[in-house]
Parts: sequence; C-alpha cells; structure tokens
Amino acid sequence: MRTLRLKDGTAIPALGLGTWMMGEGRRSRREEVAALKTGIDAGMTLVDTAEMYGSGASEELVAEAIAGRPDEVFLVSKVLPSNASRRGTVRACEESLKRLRTDRLDLYLLHWRGGVPLAETVEALSLLAEEGKIARWGVSNFDVDDMEELMSVPGGNACVVNQVLYNLEERGPEFDLFPWQDERGIVTMAYSPLGHDGALLEHPVLRQIAERHGVSPAAVALAFATARPGVMAIPKAGSAAHVEENAKGAAMELSGDDRAALDAAFPPPSRKRPLSMI
Ligand code: NDP
Repeated sequence: MRTLRLKDGTAIPALGLGTWMMGEGRRSRREEVAALKTGIDAGMTLVDTAEMYGSGASEELVAEAIAGRPDEVFLVSKVLPSNASRRGTVRACEESLKRLRTDRLDLYLLHWRGGVPLAETVEALSLLAEEGKIARWGVSNFDVDDMEELMSVPGGNACVVNQVLYNLEERGPEFDLFPWQDERGIVTMAYSPLGHDGALLEHPVLRQIAERHGVSPAAVALAFATARPGVMAIPKAGSAAHVEENAKGAAMELSGDDRAALDAAFPPPSRKRPLSMI
C-alpha cells in the first residue's frame, strides 16, 4: 500500500477504513467485522471512527475487528464539538479509549467546529498528547479561515490532519484548502470519497474508466481521491467484497485521458467554494 507522511514523519496508508453507520445492524456484525479485517489485511490499516458514530457502537465494533493486532492499526477517533471543552475533551477521549479497548489513539480529531473556543480545545488536546492518551491530533471540516484561526492559538500548529469532504462531486478544496495545507505539511483525510450514498458510482464516465481498467467504479473514485500527494481517503464498506474492490484504488493510476474525462464530467473549481460537509 502506498503511504503518506505526517508532519512528524509517521507513515499512514493512502487508503484507510471509514466506519460511520457500522455497528448499527445494517449488516450482520460478523460481516462488518470481516470487512474491517479484510481491509487491514489489504494494507488499509488506518481505521477512522468517532464517539458520534452509533453513539459509540462503531468504536465497539472497531475494537472487535482490531483485537489482537493493535500494533498493525493506526487508530483515529473524534470528539464531538459539544464535548470539546477542556474537561469534556479529556472525558470523551477516555470514554473512546474504553470502547476501543486501548490505551492510546494514534490520532484524535475535533469532529467539526462548535461553540467552544478553539484555544480551549487545543489546550485539552495538547494535554492528552502530553499524557500519552493520544499520539497526535487534528481537526475535521475546517475551511481555510478556520485553519488560519487554529494556527493563531497557542499550540494550534501541532495539528497534523484536516479531515474533509472530498470526492469527484466535491472538488472545492482543490482551489485553496489543499494548497494552504500542502505549504504547511498538513495531510488531508478525504471523507465520503465514494460520494456517501452510491449515486456517484453510477456515473457513466466513472463506469467507462472502470471498465477500461478492469476495476470497479469505486476503485476509480478512490484513485482520483488519493492522486494528490497530501491526500488519503477513508472509504466505508460493509462487506469484504467491497473492501477488496476499494483496495485496488490505491494501486491504480489514472491516465492523462482518464483525468481529462473526469475533469470534463466533474470540473475542477475555478473559484473559492465554501467547504461543504455531510
Ligand atoms: P463513502 O463515500 O465511503 O461511501 C460509503 C457507501 O459506499 C456505503 O453505502 C458503501 O456500501 C458503499 N460502497 C463501499 N464500497 C463500495 C464498492 N466497492 N462498490 C459499491 N459501493 C461501495 O461514505 P461515508 O460517508 O461513509 O464516508 C467514509 C468515512 O468517512 C465514514 O465512514 C467516516 O468514517 C468518515 N466521515 C467523516 C465525516 C466527518 O465529518 N469527519 C463525515 C462523513 C464521513 P456498503 O456499506 O454496503 O459496502
């Protein structure tokens, strides 16, 4: 699996595993656990979860999937903005650690901006890092102005990742957010890289490219999402078969013709667009 480097030198895979809406009975627990294990076996060793997902059910499912192999996995969870006070962040992290049955997260993210001043949340994240409960921290759903504000608070420049909505239909961050982050070595985690609801994967251009390469449309969407050097993606898949298709996205290279066809169908931004979020 291709890797990216975080600011501190740590390598992470170009493709990880999303887990929103897992552990909630959409598929059998056995099938979902098998899907995550298949992904880890295929090198998609970064697992993204959050206290919000199924009110902890996703974290509990992840604990089951990574049992016995904690050192192979780069574990990411997130604190809700409503919990992101100084004490609330620490408490939320400790609860996540319990559900994940581990004593340290590799990365802890502020899920989106809420009412708590950034300085207060950063203080709590710094404390968690000092205590060794998290190895590093980042943010999610931050546009350029939010990132600039983050850099201005004490300790804010320790942020290593911004997790944002990015896929063929949502290319806005290419205009200004990605260049801003590239300059500072902040890695992007692309969420909903398959378009979240499946409609993107039906697009005829995506299907044609997929057919030419002998892969699934999902692999094409993921090859696109991870083509930039500072961007990795976290597709969610509830079955081992889907995970196996997705893993191919990291190995696949889009040709000049493929890129031109994608740009024609999903034009890159020519001006600033406010960051969208799901
Ligand atoms: P995705 O873009 O990953 O799409 C998930 C959907 O695609 C599911 O319905 C899944 O179905 C389907 N799918 C997966 N693989 C294939 C395949 N090979 N062929 C056809 N369909 C496929 O959407 P998400 O919104 O889940 O985003 C991914 C992850 O990003 C989340 O799970 C979460 O971890 C994170 N996230 C973070 C947010 C934030 O605010 N920070 C917001 C949204 C997401 P099936 O399950 O049946 O395989």
